[in-house]
Amino acid sequence: MKIAVIGTGIVGSLIAREFTKYKVEVEMFEKLPDVGWGVTKANSGILHAGYDDEPHTLRAKYCARGNEMYTTLSKELDFKIKRVGSLVVAFNDKEVKTIEELLERGRKNGVKDLKILSKIEALEVEPNLSREIIAALYSPNAGVIAPWEVAQAAVENALDNGAKLHLSTEVESILEENGKYRLNTSNGIFSFDVVVNAAGLWADELAESAGVKVTPLHPRRGQYILLDRSDLVKTVLFPTPSKAGKGTLVIPTVHDTTLLGPTSEDLTPSEKNSTETTVEGLSEVIKKAQKLVPMVNLSKAIRTFAGLRPENDIKDFVIKREKNMIHIVATRSPGLTAAPALAKDVVEDLAEKLNLRTNGEFRPKRKAIPRIADMNERDKEKLINQDPSYGRIVCRCNKVTEGEIVEAIRRGARTLDGIKFRTTAMFGRCQGSFCTVKIMNIMRRELGNDFEDIVKNLPKSNIVDGVVR
Ligand SMILES: Cc1cc2nc3c(=O)[nH]c(=O)nc-3n(C[C@H](O)[C@H](O)[C@H](O)COP(=O)(O)OP(=O)(O)OC[C@H]3O[C@@H](n4cnc5c(N)ncnc54)[C@H](O)[C@@H]3O)c2cc1C
Repeated sequence: MKIAVIGTGIVGSLIAREFTKYKVEVEMFEKLPDVGWGVTKANSGILHAGYDDEPHTLRAKYCARGNEMYTTLSKELDFKIKRVGSLVVAFNDKEVKTIEELLERGRKNGVKDLKILSKIEALEVEPNLSREIIAALYSPNAGVIAPWEVAQAAVENALDNGAKLHLSTEVESILEENGKYRLNTSNGIFSFDVVVNAAGLWADELAESAGVKVTPLHPRRGQYILLDRSDLVKTVLFPTPSKAGKGTLVIPTVHDTTLLGPTSEDLTPSEKNSTETTVEGLSEVIKKAQKLVPMVNLSKAIRTFAGLRPENDIKDFVIKREKNMIHIVATRSPGLTAAPALAKDVVEDLAEKLNLRTNGEFRPKRKAIPRIADMNERDKEKLINQDPSYGRIVCRCNKVTEGEIVEAIRRGARTLDGIKFRTTAMFGRCQGSFCTVKIMNIMRRELGNDFEDIVKNLPKSNIVDGVVR
């Protein structure tokens, strides 16, 4: 049985891995040159506790369960989670009522360990929080991850278990033909017995190409400011939510930086690539972040960026099955948190209906690229003795070594962003000012590229025009 998974975001990558637990042939299709570069690359990276979602929605069904599943998943796939906890803070009595409702909703959704803290208790958890708050909803189970690392890890593990990956291959349409599905792609025609459409912002259009009607998507943009490493906050800080969503947050990231954002701006369906930031958007982020944490200091800003949520009018995920074709649409927040539970249900349901046999040889584990910066002295010494390139620091900000960069290339990185998102080189304070050229030299040596041909991410995003001397 041949199964196609379209899209290698958090949803598609985990679904593809889940399928490799069965005796089937799995092929992944991704229109971008690398995995996890869609919605999964630019978001808040929070494992939400699950109190925010209306009971009986798919979001509520999968959020708290997905959050729990991440603990095992991170051990199997060797990616970092920090269970930093979250506080939803109230500045007035009306907001206290809202957090009490969230507590109740959380309990209905099966979220454990939620409690309301007094002002003093909340300030003990988060000393830099505004003195104006009067109470907060605390969840110790909220966490942070680097979502693209999960997608990379799931794809690597799926490949290790026999799946295939077609990068830079856009699926243009899906056609049902004699009980099979024909994928017309930018790299030719393929035929499959089962197709899973996990194409993020484009899942609605792809479903339509197959003659399946789903609620149309529009992007809802979220702009962010990334601050350099600090211990500004320990916990994810939310204002009380509004109709526009969870609000603008202050987030301690898994890489020890602080993230401020996002905004919530509805764009038109034709703006699915509009990831630009704006003066108005970033000003709003600063104002709202400083309301939560007055000490927020913009002199620490190292990067701004924006992500796009795949929104629909019903404000819930849509999982639509038509024979052996499944469309997963509107993977808005908390899609990241929900993804492991959603992937498991989608695949187990299909496996049962198609009577798929389990793959006794499935290997659940994948090892991350070794990170010198996270190792103790003994392990560092051992690794450097085995391979001296792990002793040569290339990215000074995040202490990434040549060995890590070479390993990222070995695992498929072919662009500067491919290396950045696998190793955190170029991710730190100088944002690549000091190490980009060194990394390009390593790429040239390892891949035999000409310097001029090395791109940041997409075709034509070349860094240099030519070599002067
Ligand atoms: C601003 C913002 C903040 C968020 N914060 C959180 C949070 O803190 N916690 C949380 O749980 N969730 C959060 N989310 C939601 C979460 O990021 C998404 O639910 C999740 O990343 C969606 O993953 P996906 O795999 O569905 O989509 P994607 O990551 O977009 O993956 C789809 C992939 O399909 C590819 N593709 C598209 N069309 C085609 C085609 N025709 N052929 C081949 N490939 C194709 C794309 O290139 C892409 O790589 C946030 C989202 C945003 C935008």
